[in-house]
Amino acid sequence: MEPMRILHVCAEMYPLLKTGGLADVTGALPKAQLKQKAEARVLLPGFPAVKDKMGPTDLVAVIDTFAGRAALSFGYFDGVGVYVIDAPHLFHREGSPYHDEYQNAYQDNYLRFGLLGWIGADLTRGLDSMWRPDIIHAHDWHAGLACAYLAEMDSHERTKSVFTIHNLAYQGCFAPIHMAQLHLPWYLYNMNGLEYYGQISFMKAGIFFADHVTTVSPTYAREILGPENGFGMQGLLSLRASQGRLTGILNGIDDVVWDPKTDPLIPQNFDKRTLNARLADKEALQKEFHLEVTNSKPLFGVVSRLVHQKGLDLVLEALPFIMEQGGQFVLLGSGEQWLERGFEDFAHNNPAYRGNVAVRLGYDDALSHRITAGSDVLMVPSRFEPCGLTQMAALRYGSLPLVHNTGGLADTVVNSTVENVDNKTATGFIFYDCNRDALQGAVSRAMELWKSRKTWRTIQQRAMTRNFGWKESARQYLDIYRKLL
Ligand code: ADP
Repeated sequence: MEPMRILHVCAEMYPLLKTGGLADVTGALPKAQLKQKAEARVLLPGFPAVKDKMGPTDLVAVIDTFAGRAALSFGYFDGVGVYVIDAPHLFHREGSPYHDEYQNAYQDNYLRFGLLGWIGADLTRGLDSMWRPDIIHAHDWHAGLACAYLAEMDSHERTKSVFTIHNLAYQGCFAPIHMAQLHLPWYLYNMNGLEYYGQISFMKAGIFFADHVTTVSPTYAREILGPENGFGMQGLLSLRASQGRLTGILNGIDDVVWDPKTDPLIPQNFDKRTLNARLADKEALQKEFHLEVTNSKPLFGVVSRLVHQKGLDLVLEALPFIMEQGGQFVLLGSGEQWLERGFEDFAHNNPAYRGNVAVRLGYDDALSHRITAGSDVLMVPSRFEPCGLTQMAALRYGSLPLVHNTGGLADTVVNSTVENVDNKTATGFIFYDCNRDALQGAVSRAMELWKSRKTWRTIQQRAMTRNFGWKESARQYLDIYRKLL
């Protein structure tokens, strides 16, 4: 039997280009699918980082499109076949792939990502005469139009599509005037189509037109059916769920990239049998950030985009409490100015806490590994979290996650209640109401448990055995593709 051919259509892929968890998924899932004998490839826009890291590729086709001339090339990266869309007038911009240095979305994003969807659909029409996908797997709003273009093809034999929602908060909305430019027939601009509160939504296009919709954790798949987390799409999502066309599949982490035993990015490797060695990572982190070098204080870490969703304003409010309780704190993050300023000001303007708090603004892959390995608790207080990867990496590295009870965080962390500690299931700390007091309550529990180092160590070792590899999730995606075919 021929292997199934899957084309992942997406805007980023680790390690070619990453701004968040989407890239981790599109970097790891195709590899896991190759291991399961499916032929997975990836289609990416030719952003500078992608072209630089890809190295030499072969030209597949040059086409004139509604977004101008584009060249499609193909090469292998780390064993995975990758198509790159070369259209410098759209993609050759330094910095974020989505917005300018002032955080303003690029004006022509509808063309940049419309083209991504268009070429994804074109590959099913034979754009590459050597390879035609059986399944288009589109990720997030950037790729949503691929599903609409596919649905417009009238052949019964047309390629089936799966659309994965990584974060419903970003809907890719554009003025309806662009329908014609995007070669979208006007009748699709409809409530039963891709119209969303008076705009075109690429996200809605994916949800409405895909043959199957998935999202990245079972709890988030339920949460988006309600008004609080549905961003106005809850009606459509409920419909898709009632059709049996919405499934929550938990993301994994790349267990080669995130393995404390072999990770080249941390000063000292360790595993659950050599947990004592982990102390060297904590000390190195404390030294790097000019924190007091001690193991009597638990070190709370954060690695995050600094946006409202992530709930880090609650951490900012709780920082005096963490300090007074005798904790240390280190943050790596970048994003919205009010949060960047808030953390920086706290670190600089409180001489009493000097040596116990450190903040590094920016994006730094290697440092994110060092913080995961060197902290005792990793905080992920997100207001909502489709899946979340930092808490999974933290578990694997024996840094106990402290999380809000939402989405994938609820699916991956077991709270250290007295009962769960006794029955040997606890792996971290959960708070339920999304406010400062509740978060401080979880901090208090962590502080209390820190006093009993033997129990702490047992919880760490249990956390480290949790398996968040991609094998099982990749199998679940393959099951969905098979059903569609
Ligand atoms: P999201 O995709 O919403 O940002 P996830 O938890 O799914 O959240 O994935 C975030 C990924 O990006 C994790 O791998 C995390 O370690 C990484 N990350 C976030 N912020 C930074 C940063 N400032 N520097 C390095 N890595 C970061």
